[in-house]
Amino acid sequence: MTDPKDALQPGDALLLVDVQIDFCPGGNLPVAEGDQVVPVLNRWLAAAREKGIPVYASRDWHPSGHMSFAARGGQWPDHCLQDSAGAAFHPELALPDDTVVISKGVRFDKDQYSAFDETGLAERLRQDGVTRVWVGGLALDVCVEATALGGREAGFDVRLIPEASKAITADGAARAIAAMREAGVTIEEALG
Ligand SMILES: [Zn+2]
Repeated sequence: MTDPKDALQPGDALLLVDVQIDFCPGGNLPVAEGDQVVPVLNRWLAAAREKGIPVYASRDWHPSGHMSFAARGGQWPDHCLQDSAGAAFHPELALPDDTVVISKGVRFDKDQYSAFDETGLAERLRQDGVTRVWVGGLALDVCVEATALGGREAGFDVRLIPEASKAITADGAARAIAAMREAGVTIEEALG
């Protein structure tokens, strides 16, 4: 089994997708076992700190009455309302103080599943000298998939940490993994 400390190299970044209370058990849009990604990601965060690897964390950050909510004809229950308790990162996620936070889903006219979708993240990563991005978080078959694909479209070497991500459905997980492989995302196995 590869240790995250061995996997991480200069030019890498950790990109944590939507590890928020609302996506964990007890939240407003829970992913089964979603909180189980936290201890895995904390091992990666510890390795990143040790090796000076920068950390980026996206969060779903919706205005009230967002167009993605069922009440407005969208697909999802109300979730991750700006400044609400449910929108906070999981309290046990050991994010460093200099984590770069990417807020998405803030627009009134569209949803943003990918942390790369009109957020400027690709430009920021390039400024920071990042060429390879390790991705984990929630949910595998929605925002993690979209973010991994967005990273590939932006030209990054993208590595998924599978045990650091949970899907809404098993079918969704299989479909997402296939789509990511097709797009050239490396699916790391048995890391950390
Ligand atoms: Zn959302």
